[in-house]
Amino acid sequence: MNDPLAAHRALVAKVDAFEGAVRARRDASMACRAGCSACCHAELSVCDVEAALVREGLAVLDDAARAHIAERVDVHDGRCVMLDHEGRCAIYDARPLVCRTQGLPLRYPDGVIPEAAIMARGKGANGGALTWCPLNFQGDDHAPRAEDVLDAERVDAMLALSNREHGGDPSRRTSLRALAREITAELNEGNALC
Ligand code: SF4
Repeated sequence: MNDPLAAHRALVAKVDAFEGAVRARRDASMACRAGCSACCHAELSVCDVEAALVREGLAVLDDAARAHIAERVDVHDGRCVMLDHEGRCAIYDARPLVCRTQGLPLRYPDGVIPEAAIMARGKGANGGALTWCPLNFQGDDHAPRAEDVLDAERVDAMLALSNREHGGDPSRRTSLRALAREITAELNEGNALC
């Protein structure tokens, strides 16, 4: 059977491989660890192909995890609705690309990153602006190296292509909160049938 998310999974695997290679070289310079949710204080939205992957991730959660997300659906405390009790991502394997890349040094064209979004920053060796989590790559000894830098503009372009191949509407974004709300509706429906 054809996997409608095959092309997107390939992109995710590529990005994960890049992150894994940076991690292997620079682990001592990175604070990204299970339980660190510093970059999860956000209200994210995703395109259609990523929403499909997130729905998959939600579908395989156990009842306790689904109930926890359902409880948080109307809690607006600045934390992502997908965070569990321990500050871990409940949909880790299905999380969006932006979450998979946040700790890395990301290169954008000059002027593209909103000033408010820049946490730590520098200049790319090949032009552009770099931004990265300030908990990572601290101090001169641990500064990002050219081989650690992910071309965020290219990843965005590949995601747009993946979304198009999936048949996604390029103008549609769905919030993670709205996706979480879908399981609330399913849980309510299940309870009504009991
Ligand atoms: S989806 Fe997961 S990794 Fe992304 S912001 Fe939410 S909790 Fe964090």
